[in-house]
Amino acid sequence: MGANTYEATSHEPTMPYHSHTPAQVLEHWGATEQGLTSSDAAKRIQSYGRNELPKGKGESVWTMIWRQINTPLIWVLLASGILAVALGKAVDGAVVLGVVFVNTLIGFVQEYRAGKAIESLMTMVPESATVLRDGKHLTVPSSELVPGDIVFLQSGDKVPADVRFLTIKNLSIEEAALTGESVPTEKSIASVAQAAVLGDRTCMGYNGTLVTYGTATAIVVATGMRTELGKISSLLSSTVRIETPLTKSLEVVAKWLTVGIVSVAVILFAVSLNKGYTLIDAILAAITLAVAAIPEGLPAIITIALAIGVRRMASRKAIVRQLPAVETLGSTTVICSDKTGTLTKNEMTVQALWVGGKDYTVSGVGYSSEGAVEQEGTPLHDIPLPVRDLLLAGILCNDATVTEAHGAQVVITGDPTEAALVVSATKAGIAQEQTRASHFRIDAIPFESDRQWMATLHQSGDGIIAYIKGAPEVVLARCDGAENTKTAGKAALAELDRMASEGMRVLAFAMKHFPDGTKEINETDLKSDCIFLGLQGMIDPPRPEAIDAVNRSHAAGIVVKMITGDHKGTAEAIGRDLGLIKENEHAMTGASLAELTDTELERVVHVTHVFARVAPEQKLRIVQALQRQGEVVAMTGDGVNDAPALKQANIGVAMGITGTAVSKEAAAIILVDDNFASITAAVEEGRRVFDNLVKSLAFVLPTNLGEALIILIAVLFFPVVNGVALMPIEPVQILWINLVATVALALPLAFEAMEPNLMKRPPRNPKAPLLSKLVVRRTIIVAVLMAIGAIGLFLWAHNEALANGVPAALALAQAQTMAVTTVILMQVFYLLNCRSLTDSIFTIGVFSNPIIYYGIVGLLGLQAAYMYVPALATLFKAAPLTLAEWGWSALVAASVLPIMALDKRLSRQAAQKEGARHA
Ligand code: ATP
Repeated sequence: MGANTYEATSHEPTMPYHSHTPAQVLEHWGATEQGLTSSDAAKRIQSYGRNELPKGKGESVWTMIWRQINTPLIWVLLASGILAVALGKAVDGAVVLGVVFVNTLIGFVQEYRAGKAIESLMTMVPESATVLRDGKHLTVPSSELVPGDIVFLQSGDKVPADVRFLTIKNLSIEEAALTGESVPTEKSIASVAQAAVLGDRTCMGYNGTLVTYGTATAIVVATGMRTELGKISSLLSSTVRIETPLTKSLEVVAKWLTVGIVSVAVILFAVSLNKGYTLIDAILAAITLAVAAIPEGLPAIITIALAIGVRRMASRKAIVRQLPAVETLGSTTVICSDKTGTLTKNEMTVQALWVGGKDYTVSGVGYSSEGAVEQEGTPLHDIPLPVRDLLLAGILCNDATVTEAHGAQVVITGDPTEAALVVSATKAGIAQEQTRASHFRIDAIPFESDRQWMATLHQSGDGIIAYIKGAPEVVLARCDGAENTKTAGKAALAELDRMASEGMRVLAFAMKHFPDGTKEINETDLKSDCIFLGLQGMIDPPRPEAIDAVNRSHAAGIVVKMITGDHKGTAEAIGRDLGLIKENEHAMTGASLAELTDTELERVVHVTHVFARVAPEQKLRIVQALQRQGEVVAMTGDGVNDAPALKQANIGVAMGITGTAVSKEAAAIILVDDNFASITAAVEEGRRVFDNLVKSLAFVLPTNLGEALIILIAVLFFPVVNGVALMPIEPVQILWINLVATVALALPLAFEAMEPNLMKRPPRNPKAPLLSKLVVRRTIIVAVLMAIGAIGLFLWAHNEALANGVPAALALAQAQTMAVTTVILMQVFYLLNCRSLTDSIFTIGVFSNPIIYYGIVGLLGLQAAYMYVPALATLFKAAPLTLAEWGWSALVAASVLPIMALDKRLSRQAAQKEGARHA
C-alpha cells in the first residue's frame, strides 16, 4: 500500500486497530515512525477536520428555562397572577404574569450568558501535544493533530486523540473519563483480540484519558468526533450551571421564605375577610403581600456578581474551573505553595560546580576555579577531564534545548533546570547539538518527582554509558561501592549543604558503563556501582512579586506554607528570603514527616511553614491535617501525583504553563502565569465577590420586608370604606419596585471596588451565617423606616387630595405614586449606604464606583417615565407628582442616611471595644 491508502472521503477508514500490529496500523495510515510531513498533515486536516469535540447539545434551552420557572417563589407568583385574572382583575393578573415571563427571560439570558462567558474562560488554557513532523519534535495545539501523526506521551499528559501505541515504557493510563475505572490500566504494545472491549484494549490510548506513569510513542488513529470520547461527547453538557454553596444555601432560604410568605398571606387573607374585605379584595391583599415579600430580582443579581468575579479573576491570571472556588477563595486561611516557578522565577542559572573536591565558579561568560581567570567558551580539550564529564552528563541526561545560549536572548524549551545545565556546558564550549549527535541516546528513564532522578543511555566512541542526574542524596546512594565515592560521598554531602544554604538548587551527576550491545536500562540496573561525577549548583531567585504577595497574605490573616521537593537547605534559604520563616526557624523534611502519626502531624503543620524533600503523596497528608484543624486550604501542584492533594484541598491550584494535564483536571483554579502573586490576587477577588454579594443582599432584603410591612399595616389598621380596602401599594407597583428599581440599583453593587481594608482583615469564617446580625438589624431598621415613610406620605397625600376635592380614584393614584416614589428614593439613599457595610461613603470614596451613579440616574429617569408617560401611568395606576411632592418624598427618604450613619458609627465603636477587649 502506498502513502495514500487512507481514503480522505466521507466514508471513514476504520479498522480494529487494537487487533493489528503497529506496522499494520502505520501502513494503514500511510505513516512512518518518522512522522508525517507538515504538508501531508495540512492536507489531512482538510479531510479530517480539526481534532476538536464540538460541544454536545447538553442541557436544552427549554430545560434551562424550566429551571428558572421551577422555583417555589415563581410558583407563588404564577398562582397569584392566575388567581388575579380569574377574579376579574385582568390587568393586575396580566402584569404579574408578564413579570414572571420577563423575570424568567432575564434569569435565563443572564445565566446563559454568564455560563458561556465562564465556559470560554475555562477553556482558555489550551491543550497541546508533542508530535513528530518533518522528523522534528514539535509542540502543537492538540486541535491540530491528524490521523497518522506520531505523538509522544509522558506521565501527566492527557491523551490528545485515539492512538495505537508503537513503543512504550512502563506506561499506565487512567481511563476514568471513558470507562469510569479510576485505577490506571497498564499498557503494552501487543495486539489484543478483535472482540476485546474498550477497557481491555491495552495497546490503545483514548482521547481524554490521562497518562499517570511512563512514556510512549503512538500513532494517531482517530481525531475529534471520530474518537471514542467524541462518540459520547453529546452526553457532555455544553452549558455551565451556575451553582455554588452560596446559591445552594440561598435556594434553601428561598424555600423557607416561600413557606413563611404563604403562611402569612393565608393569615392575612383570613384577617382581611374578618375585617369586612370582599373576597376578591382579601385574595388580592394576600397576593400583594406575597409579591411584595418575594425578592424577585435576587437570582439575577447573584448570577451576575459571580460572573463578574470569574471575569475579574481571569484578568488577574487565575482561571476558575470550578465555580464554588470563587466563594471559597474568600475564606482561605492557608495557602500551601510549591517553590520552583511559583514562589521563585524558575530562571535557573548554574553558579557553581563541585568536581573532584574542587569548587568552580560559573559566571556570565565562562567558568573559573579558585581564582583562575574566567575563560569564554574554553575549548573542550582545555577543560580538566572530570569537569568535562560532569558537564557532559548535564547536557546529555537532559531533554531541554537552548537556542542562542550566548546571545542576550536565550530561548529554552523544556525544563528550566535542564536548560541551565545546557547553558553551563555551552559556556565551556560543549555544544548541545554536536554533543548529542555524537552521543546517540539509546534509552531513558524519565524524571519523576517522587523518584527525584533521571537517567539516559548513550552510545558514543567511549562505548555505552548511562548518565544519571538528580537529587544528590538519591544519586549518591547509587554510587555505593564505586571507589571514588567512598571518599567523595561525605565531602559531597557537606558541599551540598553549603551550596543549599546559599539558596542554590543542587543536582548530582553520575555515570555507569554498560557492555556493548545494551539496548535498554531500567531502575535496577542503576541501583548501585555508579561513578559519582560531581555537583552543579544553580540559583533560582525568588519572584519579587511573591515577596510582596506573601506580605499581603500575612496581613490578610492567611498563612503561607512552602512545600517543595527541593533540598532542606535550599528550601530554608528561599523561605527566609520570602519571609516565610525567621532566621532561627527550620524546614521539616518529608522523611521526618513520614515518621509522624496523623495527630502529631496536626500539631506540627501549624507551626511549620517550610516543608522540604516532600513527596507529592505527602502533600495529601498535609492538606488533611490542616483541614482537620478547621483550616480552609488552597494548595498548588503541577505533577501527576499532586492530583489527590489538589482534589482534597478546598481550592486546588494548578499551573497553566508548567502544570501537567492531570493536575489541571484536578484543580479548581489554574494560574495562567504560574505565579504565587496570582493566588493572592484571586483570594482578594474572592473576598470582594463575597462582600459585594452580602452588600446586594443587605440592599435588597429591606425593601421586601418594608413592602410586606406596608401591606400588613394597611390591612390591619386602615379602614374599609364601603367594602373597599385602602392599599398604599398595589401588586403591579410592587413588582415595579422589586424588579425594575431593585435590580437597576443592586447590580452596580457587584462592581463595587474592594474596600480599603479588604486584605487587612482576617478570612471569613465559612460557617458564619450569610446574613450576619448586622445585616438582619439593618434590614429591620430600614424596612421600618420605609414603611413609616411610605405610609405617612401616602395618608398625607390621600387626605390632602380628597380635601382639595380631587376625585377618589385620582387621589388614590396620587397617594400611591407618592408611596412608591418614597420607597424608591429611600432605596437610592440606602444604596449609597450599602456601598460599605462598615465604613462611611466618605472613607471609601464618594465616586469610587461611578456605575452606582449611572444606576441611580437611570432609575430616576425610569421613575419619571412611570408617572409621566401615559401608557406606563395607566399600567401602573400612577399619577404625576408635583416638584414639591418629589421634594417631600426625597426628604422623608433621606432620613435613612443619618440613621444608618449613626448605626455604622455605633457598630464601629462596638467593634473597636470588642477588639480592645480581645487585645
Ligand atoms: P517544587 O516542588 O517546589 O516545584 P522542585 O522542583 O525542586 O520543587 P521536584 O520537581 O519534585 O521539586 O524535584 C525534586 C528534586 O528532584 C529536585 O530538588 C532535584 O534535586 C531533582 N530534580 C528536579 N528536576 C530534575 C530533573 N529534571 N532531572 C533530575 N533531577 C531533577
